[in-house]
Amino acid sequence: MSYDVVIIGAGIVGAACAAECAREGLSVAIVEAGIIGGGATAAGMGHLVVMDDSEAQFALTRYSQQLWDEVSAELPCEVEHDACGTIWIAADDQEMAEAERKARFYSERGVAVEMLDAQSLREAEPSLRPGLVGGLRVPGDSVIYPPCAAQFFVDQATARGAELFLSEAVESVGADGVRLRNGTSIVAGVIVNAAGSWSPLLTPGLEIKKRKGHLVITDRYPKFLRHQLVELGYLKSAHSVTADSVAFNIQPRSTGQLLIGSSRQYDIDDASVDPSILRRMLERATEYLPGLRKLSSLRTWTGFRAATPDKLPLIGPHGEHRRLYIEPGHEGLGITTSLGTAKLLAAQIMNRPAAIPVEPYLPVRVTQESLHA
Ligand SMILES: Cc1cc2nc3c(=O)[nH]c(=O)nc-3n(C[C@H](O)[C@H](O)[C@H](O)COP(=O)(O)OP(=O)(O)OC[C@H]3O[C@@H](n4cnc5c(N)ncnc54)[C@H](O)[C@@H]3O)c2cc1C
Repeated sequence: MSYDVVIIGAGIVGAACAAECAREGLSVAIVEAGIIGGGATAAGMGHLVVMDDSEAQFALTRYSQQLWDEVSAELPCEVEHDACGTIWIAADDQEMAEAERKARFYSERGVAVEMLDAQSLREAEPSLRPGLVGGLRVPGDSVIYPPCAAQFFVDQATARGAELFLSEAVESVGADGVRLRNGTSIVAGVIVNAAGSWSPLLTPGLEIKKRKGHLVITDRYPKFLRHQLVELGYLKSAHSVTADSVAFNIQPRSTGQLLIGSSRQYDIDDASVDPSILRRMLERATEYLPGLRKLSSLRTWTGFRAATPDKLPLIGPHGEHRRLYIEPGHEGLGITTSLGTAKLLAAQIMNRPAAIPVEPYLPVRVTQESLHA
C-alpha cells in the first residue's frame, strides 16, 4: 500500500488535514486507532473563537474562523453550527479594562466587537446575576458539535478517494511510512502525526503535555442563554501552567442543553471525574448564573488538551525526519484552529506560501532536540 500522505489520527485536526490533502489531489490514507473524533475532539466544547494571547494565536484563530465561515453552509445539521457569538464578562473594573483592551485589539485587526455596559449585558443575557460591570460581545464567534465535524471532513476526504483504516493503530513511524499494530506497512511520501496528546508516543521528543479538563452537560433548557459566556477572569486562570484552575465558561447548545466548563489540570493521566474540581467549577458557574442551581445535569466527563510550552500548536515538518509532519499541540483551541492547520500543512507539503506565516508554529521550536542543541 502506497500513498502520497498517511495521516495518523482522525480527530478534528487529522480529519481536516485529510480533507485538505485530498482536495489538493494527493492520495491519502487515514489511520485511526479508535473512532472518528473520539479523542479530545469528543471531549471539547466546540467553541470557534478568535483569541489574542499572542499575534500568532490571533492569526491562526482568525484565519481558521474565516475558513469555518466559508464551510458553514456545507456543514450537515448534526454539526450543529450555531452563530451565537461570545460574551466575555467583566465582573470588576480590572476585567472591564481588559475587555476594552481586547476590544481595541480585535477592532484594529478587523474583528467586529461590541462593548456592553452593565445594563446592555443584562439585556443580552437576563440570567446573569446583577452587579456585573459589563462585557465584550464578539458576534462572529460560533459553536459546533466537534465529532460530527470530524466525521464530515473524513467523509469529504474519502469522497475524494482517501482510504480510511478505522480501529487500526499505528505502532511505529518509519523512514518511508508507518507500521500498523496488525503488522501492515503503509508506505507514504509524507507521514502526518495528528495523534493529539498521543503523538509523543509515536514521535519521542515532542514537548506535549496533557492538560485535563472537565465538562458538564445539562438537560434541555431552551432560551436560558443566547451566547457562549466566558468570564474574563478566565484569562488569569487559563494561563497558569502549574496550578489547577477553574473558570466560568458556558455554551448554549442548539439542542437547548447547556455545556458548562471548564477546568485545567496538569500532570494527571487519570481520566476519572474529580468531584472537588467539579464542585469548584459548578460553584464558579452558579456565581455568574444563579439559576443554574435549579437545572439538572445529564452527564459529566473529562478530556485532555495537548499543550505545548508556548501555547501554540505544532504545524510542520519534524526537524530530523525528512518525511514526517507534526500536527498536535492545539491545547484548548484545536476545534477552532483545525481548518487553518490543515491549510498550512497542505501549503507546506505542496511547497507554496500559506495565507498566514507558518514560522510561529513550526515544530522545530519546541522539539527536545532543538532545545538541547
Ligand atoms: C475540556 C476541553 C474543552 C475544549 N474546548 C474547546 C473549544 O471550545 N474550542 C476549541 O477550539 N477547542 C477546544 N478544546 C480543544 C480541542 O478539543 C482539541 O484541541 C482538539 O480536539 C484536538 O484535536 P486532535 O485531532 O489534535 O486530537 P484528538 O481529537 O485527540 O485526536 C487524536 C486521534 O488520534 C488517534 N490516535 C492516537 N494514537 C494513535 C495511533 N497510534 N494510531 C492511530 N490513531 C491514533 C486517537 O484515537 C484520536 O482519535 C477543548 C478540549 C478539552 C479537553
